[in-house]
Amino acid sequence: MIYAIASGKGGTGKTTVTASLAALWNRPVTAVDLDVEEPNLHLFLHPELTSEEPAFMEVPVADPERCTLCGQCAAFCQFKALSVMGKTLLVFPEMCHGCGGCLLLCPEKALSPGGRELGQIVSGHFRAGRSEDASFFMGRLRVGEAMSPPLMRQVKARLPVGGAAGDILIDSPPGVSCPAVNAVMDADVLVLVTEPTPFGLHDFQLAVQAFRPLGKPLGAVINRSGLGDAGVQDYCRAEGIPVWAEIPFNRAVAEAYSRGEVAARAVPELRDVILALMERMQAAASNPEEAGHA
Ligand code: SF4
Ligand code: SF4
Repeated sequence: MIYAIASGKGGTGKTTVTASLAALWNRPVTAVDLDVEEPNLHLFLHPELTSEEPAFMEVPVADPERCTLCGQCAAFCQFKALSVMGKTLLVFPEMCHGCGGCLLLCPEKALSPGGRELGQIVSGHFRAGRSEDASFFMGRLRVGEAMSPPLMRQVKARLPVGGAAGDILIDSPPGVSCPAVNAVMDADVLVLVTEPTPFGLHDFQLAVQAFRPLGKPLGAVINRSGLGDAGVQDYCRAEGIPVWAEIPFNRAVAEAYSRGEVAARAVPELRDVILALMERMQAAASNPEEAGHA
């Protein structure tokens, strides 16, 4: 089963929850950081990294000897990555979305596939609940690269699948834009981490609106509960969204975070909350019809 841990905004404690779940998971598990713009799950799980490989996206390279400057490719490209200027075909690889249409279209076969480096795919192993050898993957977007979904897809393509491979826990990018939807779209169960503040409620509502059409079992985790107001609880009740965990504000959790430790290993009270959350997530995966749907 694939479980995606997401949030409508940054700073809710999503990665703290993901790291704690990964560290306590009671089945074989792979932890994946798909927050490729700012991956930080490894800072808590401390995996032994065994592989790092560059990831590329296919972009066109023009052969001026063959190009007749007909302009068909430039007219086709929706992203203005190609332009005929005077007697030159200009290619802007940073604007290319890699659809490949221009390569198929060119009547002169003047375009060939080249590569634009997106970033790196990093993998390794970490110590999880019952498994001494849980897998870890993360994508790391190249500084200056704007497109994270192609890198995320390549990370996902490398994940182990099938019975013995166990479950997958995805640390998703925050927000509700294309990368966030891309991270959760293959998941069987969604966990939305939020906080009991007006800002947390606002972005939680946006996340519910964005992910509801996916029709997957969804539960909320309210982090730092007791600090703010009851707006998130009221909203969840009204929308029929189960609250799978409430994590009381605890200075010890913040201290574990600041030391780069898995909070659920360092704070016994949090361990119990995370184990109960894990059971609810697994129950939702087993009985999606009975679980709350976004
Ligand atoms: S479609 Fe081919 S021949 Fe025409 S401008 Fe583009 S690269 Fe040149
Ligand atoms: S591959 Fe697609 S997006 Fe990239 S330049 Fe060609 S038509 Fe444009």
